[in-house]
Amino acid sequence: EIAIFWFRRDLRLDDNAGLYRALKSGLKVLPIFIFDKNILDKLENKKDRRVDFIHQAVSSIKTQLNALESDILVKYGNPMEIWNSIFKEYNVKKVYCNHDYEQYALIRDGKVNKLCQAQNATFHTFKDQCIFEKDEVLSATGTPYTVFTPYSRKWKEKLNDFYKKSYPTEKYFNNFLKIVKMDAMNLTDIGFEKTEIEFQKPTLSKQILLNYKEKRDFPAIVGTSRLSIHLRFGTISTRKCVQYALMFGSETWLNELIWRDFYMNILANFPQINAGKAFKKAYDKIPWRNNEAEFKAWCEGKTGYWLVDAGMRELNNTGFMHNRVRMVVASFLCKHLLIDWRWGEAYFAQKLNDFDFSANNGGWQWASSSGCDAAPYFRIFNPESQTLKFDKNLEYIKKWVPEYLSPTYTKPIVDHKMARERALKVYKEALNEA
Ligand code: FAD
Repeated sequence: EIAIFWFRRDLRLDDNAGLYRALKSGLKVLPIFIFDKNILDKLENKKDRRVDFIHQAVSSIKTQLNALESDILVKYGNPMEIWNSIFKEYNVKKVYCNHDYEQYALIRDGKVNKLCQAQNATFHTFKDQCIFEKDEVLSATGTPYTVFTPYSRKWKEKLNDFYKKSYPTEKYFNNFLKIVKMDAMNLTDIGFEKTEIEFQKPTLSKQILLNYKEKRDFPAIVGTSRLSIHLRFGTISTRKCVQYALMFGSETWLNELIWRDFYMNILANFPQINAGKAFKKAYDKIPWRNNEAEFKAWCEGKTGYWLVDAGMRELNNTGFMHNRVRMVVASFLCKHLLIDWRWGEAYFAQKLNDFDFSANNGGWQWASSSGCDAAPYFRIFNPESQTLKFDKNLEYIKKWVPEYLSPTYTKPIVDHKMARERALKVYKEALNEA
């Protein structure tokens, strides 16, 4: 009789809530990971940095488990079929994992739970990705917050040692099932190719946290943690990040982690977001122009606006884009070009290494002003003044748009002043009608 711990977006052995419970269950634990064919088949580009990253993170777990004379069972296929085969092969009594809040995952986990029942096994899932879940930070009247500032105030009030302390999994490593080393799964076995991404153990830099407030807005420097991909796939624990933020007194950085919880909880409490709806209904009345040639120019970083083009090229080349620039390019697409934010959301979903449905949707709805945000729609970023403020020596621009002064560089595809006035008019009319 064994217990299984199912790794998903929590690819680490340390401070892992569900793994901790599995190791304390009284049964020996066999860890598993499933490369989900349903998800992978949807990725057109077979050189996907995220798949490569997950593959490397799983390999790292394998190495750590091998050192403990254990291993991780790695499978590729449809999760339900895999689970059926696991129940045939092993005498599984308990299955452990961590909550995953995305729609597909909720349905999948519901099915696995049922299968466990049919097999006389129990299914146990735990909070791990965030500090607080959807019903833990509520207003005085018991409703979910839809604005960040009061949410974050309550979040901070509620935070105590219980919520941020780490789970000492390492004390129970003896409880991994001892097995003979299994063959590794290669990237090519799942139909993918190697990319340039390199999985390295995440580090929380004291220097970055101490200087975060002053440096976080300048895309030419590494002034932010660059931990988003680790937080996305759980190769770092959110609790540890919160502990560090408090240890170094970086309230501004702590706020970013709270934004992450906030958007996760917006998704959990307002599932209409899954159906692609604007958070504020009236904004679904906006008659988007959706010009395909302009969208293509935006995607390729050929709008003729230095900062927008630099951002899009950074994204296309690395899978990362600095937060300040994400805000500028997103605002440009929705406001300057009047292209539906869902087009931009989908493009980011394809390209971002740290793509996360809730944070991405939150960021895009923020940019289009349709989201849960107190700021009004007439906030329209001017890419040129953003450049003056945040890249005044043009270092970031020179890196990604080296031809920025050349006569061959694209002429602006839209005039800023005209575009701004057009957006204000279109938004105003649509919202008046709604
Ligand atoms: P840091 O500044 O060091 O922040 C620490 C961590 O806090 C980040 O790693 C991230 O996990 C979290 N965080 C920071 N800002 C936000 C935020 N606004 N919302 C939610 N979490 C946040 N972030 C994603 O993780 N995935 C996405 O798909 C994503 N899409 C975005 C789309 C748009 C249009 C915008 C404007 C922002 C988006 N963000 C997204 C938020 C933010 O840009 C990134 O989290 C950040 O740039 C990652 O860099 P970092 O790790 O150095 O962050």
